[in-house]
Amino acid sequence: DAQYPHVFVTLGASGDLARKKIYPTLWWLFRDNLLPSNTVFYGYARSKTTIIEIKEKCRQYMKVKPEEEECFEQFWKLNHYLAGKYDSRTDFEKLNQELSNFEKGPVANRLFYLALPPSVFDEVTVHIRNACMAQKGWTRIIIEKPFGRDLQSSQKLSDHLASLFTEHQIYRIDHYLGKEMVQNLMTIRFGNRIFSPTWNRDNIASIQISFKEPFGTQGRGGYFDEFGIIRDIMQNHLLQILTLVAMEKPATCHPDDIRNEKVKVLKKYKGIGVERPLNERKAEVRVQFKDVPGDIFDGKPKRNELVIRVQPGEALYVKLMVKTPGMAFDMEETELDLTYGHRYAGVKLPDAYERLILDVFCGSQMHFVRSDELSEAWRIFTRILHTIEHEKIKPIPYTYGSRGPKEADEMLINNNFIYTGSYKWTPKV
Ligand code: NAP
Ligand code: NAP
Repeated sequence: DAQYPHVFVTLGASGDLARKKIYPTLWWLFRDNLLPSNTVFYGYARSKTTIIEIKEKCRQYMKVKPEEEECFEQFWKLNHYLAGKYDSRTDFEKLNQELSNFEKGPVANRLFYLALPPSVFDEVTVHIRNACMAQKGWTRIIIEKPFGRDLQSSQKLSDHLASLFTEHQIYRIDHYLGKEMVQNLMTIRFGNRIFSPTWNRDNIASIQISFKEPFGTQGRGGYFDEFGIIRDIMQNHLLQILTLVAMEKPATCHPDDIRNEKVKVLKKYKGIGVERPLNERKAEVRVQFKDVPGDIFDGKPKRNELVIRVQPGEALYVKLMVKTPGMAFDMEETELDLTYGHRYAGVKLPDAYERLILDVFCGSQMHFVRSDELSEAWRIFTRILHTIEHEKIKPIPYTYGSRGPKEADEMLINNNFIYTGSYKWTPKV
């Protein structure tokens, strides 16, 4: 498709997501020559704004180097803006007219990014379907969470979308699926003989998926009161990691084989609990193995742990026991360490949105959420969300900036995770 015209339409082009993520990502992809050569960008929103104004608002997020100025100007020359309402078919027909003016030749493809509040999703998608579908190529629709706020509302949105588009046209973004170490999980698990046969209940004692932020709601208290961390982080990002950690090996790397396995994992879950937001920023997967059977070292061996750190500072390390170096025949904990910043010092890891938007151009749905996955994910959390809301369950308080309440550590112990506190890490310089 690379030689054919493509139009990328950002609906809600005047907004926060467009400014901070979408325009910068399109610019980086353009700058790095990753987009089809004949691509133009349309912004659409109600505001009477201009490309010049959008450019000024976006600039601080676009990291333009002095030597890239000319390329940057070229990028903006390919950008257009049309003001229109979200509930007006006539305005979408105008948009369609503008898009088709650009689409010379036998094939032309369209991408629509809905950077809009969910309140206008329904009408906008209807107008896209009725007035803006590509006549000479494919149409793909990119949407962002929230995909509803519980099973019922999410199902309503899914049904609505399914009445307008096929599943292959819908790209639901969960930007965690665009992160290096999340995409890495499948390779680590299924590309390594040492991990595949040990990744089971006989060998693994406990798995922890942690997400921590060291700051408060920062003016977003209203949003969190309304939406909450379960909907914002757990139901989507962390559950996606969980499926990749727990799923069986897919038959092939085809997106639907992978997503079938992810759905199977979710179907097995009845419900999950507990959150504790904190003292540091990190997202990681910690796989703790069982004690060595038939220990001959008087209980000295500590458990092996495989840690996959998603952010910050991508790393993969395995804690393991060695003989204490030197004369002694004692033992100590050390690590096999793969710190990406050292091992792949020269490699640029793209931003999650760069990978994902490029995937949409390429038609790869591997890193996007399928509707049955979404519905299972909501099923798991809806009961707990409703219980919290109806029974007004009080969260357990803890000191701001601490590791969280003691109940969280008790939960770890109850789930067979042993923290010894004996591991010492010496950062390399
Ligand atoms: P936003 O800035 O509030 O809204 C985007 C645009 O939509 C606005 O510029 C405005 O454009 C229009 N709009 C706003 N409120 C509206 C209303 N009540 N009725 C009709 N139009 C309205 O939203 P955003 O932060 O860009 O987010 C867009 C979508 O992405 C949302 O679904 C959000 O939940 C999701 N999301 C955002 C982020 C983020 O970092 N911002 C992250 C993840 C997901 P006009 O007035 O010019 O039409
Ligand atoms: P650790 O010190 O054994 O801690 C393991 C985990 O246990 C911690 O992440 C902590 O998580 C939790 N914990 C702490 N106190 C606890 C308590 N009293 N009860 C129950 N759980 C407790 O090992 P580590 O965190 O894997 O490594 C130590 C440091 O070395 C970390 O800062 C790590 O980033 C660094 N390191 C870096 C690399 C690398 O960059 N390649 C490699 C190896 C180690 P929560 O506080 O989140 O619960």
